[in-house]
Amino acid sequence: MTLGMLEKEGEEHLKEAGVPDAALDARYLLLDVWNMSLASYLTCREKKIALDGESGGHVCRYRELIAQRAGRVPLQRITGCQEFMGFSFRVNAHVLIPRQDTETLVELVLREQAKLGRTGRPASLLDMCTGSGCIAVSLVKLGNFCRAVGADISPEALQAAEENKRILLGSEAGRLQLIESDMFDRISPQERFDVITSNPPYIPSRVIEGLEPEVKDHEPRIALDGAEDGLKFYRILAEGCREHLVPGGYVYMEIGWDQAGDVKEIFASRGYKELTVTKDLAGLDRVIRAVWPGKGEEENHV
Ligand code: GLN
Repeated sequence: MTLGMLEKEGEEHLKEAGVPDAALDARYLLLDVWNMSLASYLTCREKKIALDGESGGHVCRYRELIAQRAGRVPLQRITGCQEFMGFSFRVNAHVLIPRQDTETLVELVLREQAKLGRTGRPASLLDMCTGSGCIAVSLVKLGNFCRAVGADISPEALQAAEENKRILLGSEAGRLQLIESDMFDRISPQERFDVITSNPPYIPSRVIEGLEPEVKDHEPRIALDGAEDGLKFYRILAEGCREHLVPGGYVYMEIGWDQAGDVKEIFASRGYKELTVTKDLAGLDRVIRAVWPGKGEEENHV
């Protein structure tokens, strides 16, 4: 038995179970169990491995993980982490696994806010529905934010965010405060931010049943379900951001591919300006940005 043969065995098992990307997942799990880089795997995959002792234990563990993945448990739930913006984020059963689509949002915030410069003053950030904290932690690491708040309704999700904050922000961890809050309920009424970001639950309830088993059976429903029309949390954001953005403050939200028109309408009708839609790498509408002009300003234009 060689590692290469074991990888092939895992791949076949995953293929039979209908797992997309069976070959890649079989390889990732192998590298994870042997705690090995791709380079060292490629140099030793033809060498014989022992089926007893430590190596035998690894073989059993690998087969166990392949069986889990064949049961459509997401890869990241098995390995416990997902890369996002070049950082390795820990995930647990209570957070949405960070998606590449969401990097579109982070990159847009970084680009636009750097351009604004905000007269040299570092900006403040609120990340609503923070989950694993991937948006908030990445922006604190890569952007010019002096203070950030990440809010989530789930205390278990916040445990993952706390861990990511501690591991990834290190000595800068003090810049990010994590708060258990049902949307804006526990955000201090006087506090206003320069930037608000959110990847809220946005999938219409009835659509969830049609999603891949990895998502519908293993990702937290609470992080996906945007109620009947999928738009519930954008309406709450549109109300709450009026109270919690400085005049001229920016809100950036991830949206479903077919929601740009509806979400723009929700924000435009509440007085927001400068609405833009940004596409993800697949060419689908993915991020809406809106600017809150401030009370008075907005009233002149409604
Ligand atoms: N983009 C995610 C998915 O399609 C959903 C994320 C969300 O609801 N915020 O699985």
